[in-house]
Amino acid sequence: MSGPARAFDVVIAGGGPVGAALAALAPAGLRIAVVEPRGPDRDGGAPAGGERAIALAEGSRRILEEAGAWRLLAPQAAPIRFIHVSQRGRPGITRLGCDECGVEALGWVVPGPALERALAARLGELGHVERIAGHVRALADDGACVRVRVEHGGGARELEAALVVGADGTASRVREAAGIGVERWDYGQDAVLATLETARPHEGWAYERFTDEGPMALLPLGPRRMALVWTLPRRRAAAALRLAGGEFAARVQERFGWRLGRLRLAEPGRARHPLRMVRAREAVRGRVALVGNAMRTLHPVAGQGFNLGLRDARSLARLLEEAAWDGADPGAPERLAAYARRRARDQRRVLTFTELLVRGFASPLAPVAWARGLALVLLELAPPARRALARAAMGLA
Ligand SMILES: Cc1cc2nc3c(=O)[nH]c(=O)nc-3n(C[C@H](O)[C@H](O)[C@H](O)COP(=O)(O)OP(=O)(O)OC[C@H]3O[C@@H](n4cnc5c(N)ncnc54)[C@H](O)[C@@H]3O)c2cc1C
Repeated sequence: MSGPARAFDVVIAGGGPVGAALAALAPAGLRIAVVEPRGPDRDGGAPAGGERAIALAEGSRRILEEAGAWRLLAPQAAPIRFIHVSQRGRPGITRLGCDECGVEALGWVVPGPALERALAARLGELGHVERIAGHVRALADDGACVRVRVEHGGGARELEAALVVGADGTASRVREAAGIGVERWDYGQDAVLATLETARPHEGWAYERFTDEGPMALLPLGPRRMALVWTLPRRRAAAALRLAGGEFAARVQERFGWRLGRLRLAEPGRARHPLRMVRAREAVRGRVALVGNAMRTLHPVAGQGFNLGLRDARSLARLLEEAAWDGADPGAPERLAAYARRRARDQRRVLTFTELLVRGFASPLAPVAWARGLALVLLELAPPARRALARAAMGLA
């Protein structure tokens, strides 16, 4: 261990999209450290295909604007103007448009690496945020402050903070070191990711199509480019990745249909991501708070994981603002308990909605398929219900 511990008000473990957003939203009156093993400059090379695309709700766009990152990201964001939900081989379609909701876009799609680069660039502009390369390995919370052990390149150093935030993702080391247990289950499915080129322009439509094998989402990226997120049982996902590019595109076409003309792979690469649910039993413990995937990792079917994590970041940043304003302790346990209470309702709502989609829409059982067809038809016929659903999905409810 080299030298005495460096002191900060807040140490954020993990400079992924949620940790970086929290640092960008935190008040300038606090000294913030972001510990991240990957360097601050995210890879800016040409996309190889299979990168994660993130659908941002309108509410999230506003938070990124408040964080000063939206202006850096906007040139790479594709608007979602319409949403089309259907099920393959059964009746029932519902459509939503931005005009009926009175907004410019229902949401935005951004490439995951572009989101991280924009946030990293924003942090580079902030004098009160220091980025530290390394892994957080251990914590010692003595009630008055937390000592944080950071390891990097064979060396180790110690930091000290009033508050430590675990933004270190699904396998959070901070969560484990704080003694916070988890519930987890495996969906037995993988998300297959690819970038498609469409013969016809998508004109801002995003598609969610439920099939007997699992849901398939196509999200607008460029004028004739769409990000594919195809959820499949694990073995079929592995087989889909082994297909040659043309065969893979033909398989997607067979499931999706011809609304956008012929589909081709825009880039040769494809990726596979195992789908597991991990939920922390507590959001806070002592002077430690969790945000984003460290708090819960969701099935991506509803595209809500980052949107929910960003709302964690904003909620915690608001409490930090109050502390900075009052000159109070930013990691005081009663302040963190308020954070946990504020986040519980939003998390419950999003988890329930996501599980409903996973279980209700993935089921091949005839009565379930019939019921969801009916639900889609009713939504199509009931504009107020559709608008209410849209506002919730936009993070504006
Ligand atoms: C296929 C797929 C599609 C998705 N689509 C959407 C979507 O459309 N919309 C949406 O809202 N969400 C979506 N999500 C969810 C979204 O990707 C996640 O919710 C989001 O990336 C979580 O961000 P995070 O910063 O909490 O965690 P992560 O992105 O996992 O970042 C964690 C960071 O912590 C760092 N780290 C790890 N260990 C340590 C350590 N010991 N010390 C310090 N740092 C550490 C890592 O290097 C990483 O940078 C999708 C997810 C998947 C799998």
